Amino acid sequence: MTTRDDTFPVQVGALQLGGGAPVRVQAMTNTDSADTTATAAQIQALAEAGAELARITVNTPAAAMAVPEIVARVRDAGCDAPIIGDFHYNGHILLRDYPQCAAALDKYRINPGNVGKGAVRDKRFAAICAIARDNDKAVRIGVNAGSLDSELVETRLAENANAPSPTPAETVLNACMIYSALHAVEQAVSLGVSENRIVLSCKTSRPNDLVALYRELAGRTRQPLHLGLTEAGMGMKGLVWSAAAMSILLEAGIGDTIRVSLTPEPGGNRCEEVYAAQEVLQALELRQFTPEVVSCPGCGRTASDAFQRLASETKQHIRARLPQWREQYEGVETLKVAVMGCVVNGPGESKAANIGISLPGNNEKPRCPVYADGVKIATLHGVEHAVKKAFLELIESYIATRYQKKQA
Ligand code: SF4
Repeated sequence: MTTRDDTFPVQVGALQLGGGAPVRVQAMTNTDSADTTATAAQIQALAEAGAELARITVNTPAAAMAVPEIVARVRDAGCDAPIIGDFHYNGHILLRDYPQCAAALDKYRINPGNVGKGAVRDKRFAAICAIARDNDKAVRIGVNAGSLDSELVETRLAENANAPSPTPAETVLNACMIYSALHAVEQAVSLGVSENRIVLSCKTSRPNDLVALYRELAGRTRQPLHLGLTEAGMGMKGLVWSAAAMSILLEAGIGDTIRVSLTPEPGGNRCEEVYAAQEVLQALELRQFTPEVVSCPGCGRTASDAFQRLASETKQHIRARLPQWREQYEGVETLKVAVMGCVVNGPGESKAANIGISLPGNNEKPRCPVYADGVKIATLHGVEHAVKKAFLELIESYIATRYQKKQA
């Protein structure tokens, strides 16, 4: 399975999108971009979690004014993730009035559906394209089902209604999205934006429509595609719907950068969308970001939730330690750890992992064999806390002995 390598390579800051580059993980901040400190901190957090590109809202003069300082702070902190400005309605004004904002960003997201209507829209769209061209910046032309060009939709729906055999409205809307996206690319190119500077997206919140839209787009354009189910929703629904829709496309090599648009729980961790995108790519074996923890679902053989806690704490430990491990050890992302609930599948899965532990189920002796590369290396006993501590230490020592140290 490979990404389409016939797409134009688009350079965004230090990163290439498309042209055979790996599928990139993208995330978006939810801070007020006028708040320089909070936004810079969240970009860094997203990048540390694994976001390779970070998008920020630029919706007001205060936000546009803050952009150069946000970018400077992020760069000073050693983070080189490209920073993208998300513009709607007034992007032509903000980019014109705040040239330092235009210069500081690596890419502009333009939504052709909400820069105005008719000739006004064309003029504003042209103004943004001219600024991108003159600053040699990439753009994403991002069509969204929720903000589709209303004139186009009304005209096409009316034509459809008068046709001898009208098609479902949904089909008409999808056709409008494709037309809007491709037409905007043509306009941008005719205005002097290089094809090597344009990324395209056509997002909807309905998985089947997303699949149909991107299949068609992939056949009709060589622009790299930004893929994501928009307004995916909260929690499990957002995760499953995003993965279901994106996997079909990614499996077919469609999608050059992805975002999982989760609605966070109130006070939730924005980095969840980064972890979700990484898991999708890792599950499909397109990228390898983080060690994998294999754990069983548990069943009537598990006497307590001790193995669930151990699986969860092992995952947390790996997430916390990974940035340091990455700096120290080559290929540590490929580590596979197993945490299993009983003897039925526990030893087998533990032996198949790099390192694994099989906890005792109902009526088993209270001992926990640990396997490394298929060989039993220890049997842990005692209270839950002690077993966890010893197992995490064994993981640390496995990594220290099995993975090659990076040169300083
Ligand atoms: S490994 Fe054991 S505890 Fe886990 S699901 Fe299988 S039978 Fe149940």
